[in-house]
Amino acid sequence: MRIDVISLFPEFVAACAGFGVVGRARERGLLSLHGWNPRDYAEGNYRRVDDRPFGGGPGMVMMIEPLRAAIAAARAADPAPARVVYLSPQGRRLDQALVRELAGRERLLLLCGRYEGVDERLVAAEVDDEVSIGDYVLSGGELPAAVVIDAVARLQAGALNDADSAAQDSFGAEAGGGPGLLDCPHYTRPVSHPLGDVPEVLLSGNHADIARWRRRQALLRTRARRPDLLDRAGLSAADRALLAD
Ligand code: SAM
Repeated sequence: MRIDVISLFPEFVAACAGFGVVGRARERGLLSLHGWNPRDYAEGNYRRVDDRPFGGGPGMVMMIEPLRAAIAAARAADPAPARVVYLSPQGRRLDQALVRELAGRERLLLLCGRYEGVDERLVAAEVDDEVSIGDYVLSGGELPAAVVIDAVARLQAGALNDADSAAQDSFGAEAGGGPGLLDCPHYTRPVSHPLGDVPEVLLSGNHADIARWRRRQALLRTRARRPDLLDRAGLSAADRALLAD
């Protein structure tokens, strides 16, 4: 998968995406990242990329032309068609279903805004999707872009050392197509600690019992913390019996 990032601070996004699973995905050739700075495409001595908003009011707005030229340069760098995603607090809220959609694309072009955002005409002409990482406002699209990159990188085949790991994480797709439950709790050595003991079933070596325990914990946790997910998960009769235990 190829991801191009249009940003006034492309090095910032690249630095966030240099470690752990994302770094490994890049090393393994599963993901390539390319930064494009609209300032490099701006004209004049000051290489201006923003201007005052028409109608007055606070802040500045990112201008059309430097962004358009940066997007054109990014598109021209590779023949694969790119889905242009503008990171915006007004976009579709990112969740694991949207991450799966984005991760399945051959190529993404992530557009990071700054200031009051981007001239609306550029959004209308160039953007395919607007994606928000939550109902709060950050000062730029770089952290949201890094969030998207991390989430899609770990879904690339071969990025995680254990292929089952993503499916077992919170929000992993349910067999029935539901949104997925929260993950069960995890424990590691030591078995006994002043803070508590590891649940015995996890030491039993009985895989069926362990799977049942984990599923029940996931169901209980989801019911306690995110009942909305449980409602949409489409529980089986076996799940309902586990919850009733
Ligand atoms: N005036 C805009 C509004 O209220 O909708 C907010 C602009 S914000 C200060 C600057 C940039 O940060 C946005 O253009 C966007 O790229 C990014 N941004 C801020 N919050 C975000 C969020 N929750 N999700 C995705 N991007 C966000």
